[in-house]
Amino acid sequence: MTPLPAITAFTAQEFEERLQPLALERFRARQILQWIYRRRASSFETMTDLSLEHRTLLAQSFRPSCTSVAQRHACADLTEKLLLRLDDGNLIETVLIRDGDRKTVCVSTQVGCPIRCVFCASGLDGRARDLTTAEIVEQVLTIQNALPEGDRVDNLVLMGIGEPLLNYANVTRALRIFKASWGLGIGYNRITLSTIGILDRIPQLVEDRVTPNLAISLHAPNDRIRREIVPTMKKKVAELIRAAVEYKRATKKNVTLEIVLLDGVNDDKKHALELGKKLRGTRVKVNVIPFNRVAEVPYREPSPERVTRFVKTLGSCGVPVTVRKRKGDAISAACGQLRHQARPRDTAVAIQGEPIPIPPSALDPSAETPQA
Ligand code: SAH
Repeated sequence: MTPLPAITAFTAQEFEERLQPLALERFRARQILQWIYRRRASSFETMTDLSLEHRTLLAQSFRPSCTSVAQRHACADLTEKLLLRLDDGNLIETVLIRDGDRKTVCVSTQVGCPIRCVFCASGLDGRARDLTTAEIVEQVLTIQNALPEGDRVDNLVLMGIGEPLLNYANVTRALRIFKASWGLGIGYNRITLSTIGILDRIPQLVEDRVTPNLAISLHAPNDRIRREIVPTMKKKVAELIRAAVEYKRATKKNVTLEIVLLDGVNDDKKHALELGKKLRGTRVKVNVIPFNRVAEVPYREPSPERVTRFVKTLGSCGVPVTVRKRKGDAISAACGQLRHQARPRDTAVAIQGEPIPIPPSALDPSAETPQA
């Protein structure tokens, strides 16, 4: 039997249409969405301004949500990570990062990832499937509902597991729900989508008027190193930089090029100079991310001195550059790490909720330290 659809799968307009066959008035849609997104309702019974008949009818046609919390890990720096269980038993991870008053959620978009960047834990098992709209939306909603009453998530980064632009329809529908006043009310200026560079989809975001801030994972100053780090992608460095410049021009949003620094691979002064030369005059910002150790891959993070030298060299070329702060070290907040540890052979452990071994590494996808 196919499970009932979750309300979080729909935009307000789609939900209004779904209510028509049930003979519920159109305005009921927004009333119900308010219960879901603002009033933390977890069942139809609690929606007390609906008649009992309506509540029964709704419960026969929909579910309020389709995910459940399988594990919750908290860290001393107030970073929190949730593992959510999906209908098919798959687990996905979502992270809450606190920085002062700011609450940022790091959202996953696929179960696993097909891209296989050589240093990343998310791609180690490949991609199982895309997440549905509801599964993407509920990551943020679940975290928000766990915050003290009145507290709201205010920033989103699509930097969890998966390549968001390979799940375009669900990701853009979820972004509309995040932004909507009847939804989570988080504007596109406070959302950053990170992509490996699925280039035909970037102008499509502009065309579809779904325009979050954009981060493109460049990782390399030239095509040879890019192919070494992202072997499954053929896109050229020049094309990726052009896409960044174009999106910035078209949307006036923040656009960043991300470079994960791997010791001895792409972290040399000459690499910074090569990249600096290519970016001169573009005003596109670079975000340097020192590698977070993943047990299964042979790469190492560069020494702080090498990171500083890379950043200073780029800065001296006139490139605005920031370095990402680390958070959540004790809970494997780096992409894919927690889920990778809890993958199917470990499912029994995950279901019993027993502690799982956690290596010391993580990243904070939102908080940045300006360097230049
Ligand atoms: N698929 C998207 C989102 C990936 S996660 C993309 O490729 O952009 C967001 C960022 O974290 C990416 O730049 C990714 O390369 C980086 N990242 C993944 N694993 C990492 C690790 N172990 N250490 C440091 N950065 C990592």
